[in-house]
Amino acid sequence: MFKKSTERTITRIRRNLAGLDCADCHHSNTVTSNRLREETLRKHLDAMSAKQPPKPSAFRAPFNNGPANAPPTANPMAAGFGMGYTPGETPMVATTPSKVPEAPKAASRADDNAVLVQKKASSKGVLRLGELLIQEGRLTEDQLKKALSQSKASKRPLGTTLVRMGILTEEELGKCLATLHHLDYLSLANISIPDEVLTVLPEDFIKQHLVLPICVHKELKRIEVTMARPDKMAVLDEIALITGYRAVPKVSTHTEILEFIDTRFRQAISGDEALKKLQENHANSGNTGISELYAPNVEDLDADVDVDDAPVVMLVNSLLMNAIEQGASDIHVEPQNAQLLIRYRIDGILKEIRSIPKNNAAAIVSRIKVSSGMDIAERRKPQDGRMRVKIGSQEVDMRVSSIPVQFGEKICIRILRGNVMTGGTAQLGLTEYELDTLTRMVKAPNGIVLVTGPTGSGKTTTLYACLREINSPEINISTVEDPIEYPLAGINQTPMNPKAGVTFASTLRALLRQDPDVILVGEIRDEETLEAGIHAALTGHLVFSTLHTNSAAKTVNRLLEMGAPNYMVSSAVVGILAQRLVRTICNGCKTEIAPTAEDRVALEYSPDEPLTLYQGAGCQKCNNTGYSGRTAVYEIMKISREIQELVEKNAPTFEIQDMAVKQGMSTLAMSAKRKILEGKTTVEEVNRILGVDWEG
Ligand SMILES: [Zn+2]
Repeated sequence: MFKKSTERTITRIRRNLAGLDCADCHHSNTVTSNRLREETLRKHLDAMSAKQPPKPSAFRAPFNNGPANAPPTANPMAAGFGMGYTPGETPMVATTPSKVPEAPKAASRADDNAVLVQKKASSKGVLRLGELLIQEGRLTEDQLKKALSQSKASKRPLGTTLVRMGILTEEELGKCLATLHHLDYLSLANISIPDEVLTVLPEDFIKQHLVLPICVHKELKRIEVTMARPDKMAVLDEIALITGYRAVPKVSTHTEILEFIDTRFRQAISGDEALKKLQENHANSGNTGISELYAPNVEDLDADVDVDDAPVVMLVNSLLMNAIEQGASDIHVEPQNAQLLIRYRIDGILKEIRSIPKNNAAAIVSRIKVSSGMDIAERRKPQDGRMRVKIGSQEVDMRVSSIPVQFGEKICIRILRGNVMTGGTAQLGLTEYELDTLTRMVKAPNGIVLVTGPTGSGKTTTLYACLREINSPEINISTVEDPIEYPLAGINQTPMNPKAGVTFASTLRALLRQDPDVILVGEIRDEETLEAGIHAALTGHLVFSTLHTNSAAKTVNRLLEMGAPNYMVSSAVVGILAQRLVRTICNGCKTEIAPTAEDRVALEYSPDEPLTLYQGAGCQKCNNTGYSGRTAVYEIMKISREIQELVEKNAPTFEIQDMAVKQGMSTLAMSAKRKILEGKTTVEEVNRILGVDWEG
């Protein structure tokens, strides 16, 4: 029996089936209406019985797979089960066996042998094929004997053995089997099976039994399937059991079915086709929103969650795909009192995408958890997971985390865009002076280079660009990251795993025994990591890391606060880069605006000085936000001899900053102002991002 045929699977399948009907059969050239089919079959059988000489044959008896004089209904085939006829209907095959004369009497000696062999094998029905082939003159009895013994030795069916012996092609075998079982042969070469039909049977059932659903006739309560082994009646029984529909088989070759399964299900796994379909569905659903797309069929899923439920899978896929398309960095799935709220973070700002009726919340959350390898039964503890979505040739990794909240579990999906940037520091959008300064910092033989800023300010992008800049076969670059956001060719990346004792500090110490030239430590979070980092820098290594500080100059202060001695900070740190991401004005709706008095003050322009500013008026391209994409603003501080002296004598932050500015550094605020004047962003946006640091 079909082991996974739980009540739920069956319910789901039957529910899906209810919406399916092949009114105008998609392969009408091979499938005719029931009545026409009957007529065709009758003709076929008549022709067959006419062809078959009434003279006795040793092979007649097993043709019926039972005693020659047995009533025709003794054979399930004869009873019409596999034919698409219920036992009550005319058992058409019954005419054939009734014509069979008593066979063994007239059998020759050679036939006697064959009968012996055949008696053994007849329970498997193999000789029926042999008989047909001999009748058709395609096989000699010697060949049959040889094939039978090979078949027995290899435990392969006779048909397969004949194909392997080169006596039959697969297609010929398929056609013979079809004839034997009075079925149609179906070549899959030009057949397309719609997804909704293919999915009426569970994927593992299809793979296990090599049977493909090809067509559903609702009124006739009939599913047409195709299979390579039409003798496997039990499979048809199971299909009937699962679907509640009668299964009517056709015959196709083993290879064609395998190839079909391989292509279709591989596509489904990669998500290519599914996502394409989803997009279409989504477009077709118009403004009604996707919740309506599946609402009619879904009962209360809260208690009994089916994570494989097709509409749920589709909905989750579409949420992921749309997020990627819209350039979101995070997807928030938030259970509320009466709904499940979906929000995307796009260009740093959360945006409500849709709300989904609460009764579907559990299924959606569970689907995401399953896809990202979490334990769906565990709902009370936070969990972490990962998943990968493939769209076309693009693969997108996602880091998923769950946390219990008042109304269920909140899910956050971080979309890791591994292929956003593949170049070095030249791609970071720095000014010439900044690029020159950064290049000298990353090419230092040893020391610490720090990149600072809040979460989501593009620090990893900058660090990876630095590593790519210096990456070469002559040096060993190792990293310890939390998490590895994307793989870097030629670089040894270690993911942090505190449970297994893999922390930044411990790995940093371990990496020092790995003969490294350059080390990237994801973040300096504690004194221990800082100490190990400084130690590495002072023993001849170049160390890259990040800190959560607001400006380059304040970072010095932070390092001292964490317990590093002044002389060590001044001698180990090569340079500090602080950065933020600001949204850029949408090109589709960029318009000139007259600056306000506040704008002039912020930009240090006198009231009568000419000043042109821009903003986005809002258009479809930017979802009426006026912004599209982001750009980084930087402040890059090289630890010069003068700054070293200031650090050693514990000078206040502003003194360090002033010195750096005097030596050519642009502060974050200065960089941001430049971007405003260049028409790349707005005063409001810089206010939002920099807040009080704006004054600097
Ligand atoms: Zn726009």
